[in-house]
Amino acid sequence: MIRMAGVDKFFGPLHVLRSIDLEVPQGQVVVVLGPSGSGKSTLCRTINRLEPIDSGTIEVDGQPLPAEGKALARLRADVGMVFQSFNLFAHKTILENVMLAPVKVRGTASAKAREEGMALLERVGIANQADKLPAQLSGGQQQRAAIARALAMKPKVMLFDEPTSALDPEMVNEVLDVMTSLAREGMTMLVVTHEMGFARRAADRVVFMADGEIVEDTTPEEFFTSAKSERARDFLGKIL
Ligand code: ATP
Ligand code: MG
Repeated sequence: MIRMAGVDKFFGPLHVLRSIDLEVPQGQVVVVLGPSGSGKSTLCRTINRLEPIDSGTIEVDGQPLPAEGKALARLRADVGMVFQSFNLFAHKTILENVMLAPVKVRGTASAKAREEGMALLERVGIANQADKLPAQLSGGQQQRAAIARALAMKPKVMLFDEPTSALDPEMVNEVLDVMTSLAREGMTMLVVTHEMGFARRAADRVVFMADGEIVEDTTPEEFFTSAKSERARDFLGKIL
């Protein structure tokens, strides 16, 4: 579903992605781990071309990333993204947030978008918050709304960049539970997270990055019990 080959990315003199080869096959959940500054967010952002790359290729669903225009808009509709900050529209209700892109970008009729939006809010457990404004919701509820909003576009793949890092601890699980059920339903997912429980429970593979390189790409069992590289063992020593 996602295929990156030989991808390099520079910020000025800083070489932030170094010859990245990464595949996320359809239906797989790949968790990306690594120290701060290792390039995890940049990696995510290249996949829907929020960041252009300097060399290499990225394909989503067999198609090379379009550079601009309608084709890029279509790609972005197919690649759902959820960030650390929820980025909901503050002056629109939760349901309006979820309905907006399907109506504007996909051309879905408003009644249908409303019906599908309510079903998604049901699925993430916040249907009773549909008519509230984002500020009236807890952080965990806002993040679940952000997930519903991404799902409303019927994406082929979902990217998550530290979706629980900004949440109070008691709200982390309600978001991880939604992500775990998405994973079980077969959604293709690339997830940057520090939640090792989620990685163990939901990941098909763990990719460990350091200094812009993929240092390990293996199963969660293998990674957590017998990481090969010094850098991964050092990382695990600090967080476990
Ligand atoms: P964290 O765990 O802190 O979120 P990360 O692994 O997501 O870190 P990135 O945000 O991808 O790391 O950053 C990788 C490197 O690129 C860092 O050195 C960062 O300072 C640098 N960087 C990121 N975005 C930019 C930018 N827009 N301009 C210049 N440098 C940047
Ligand atoms: Mg980051």
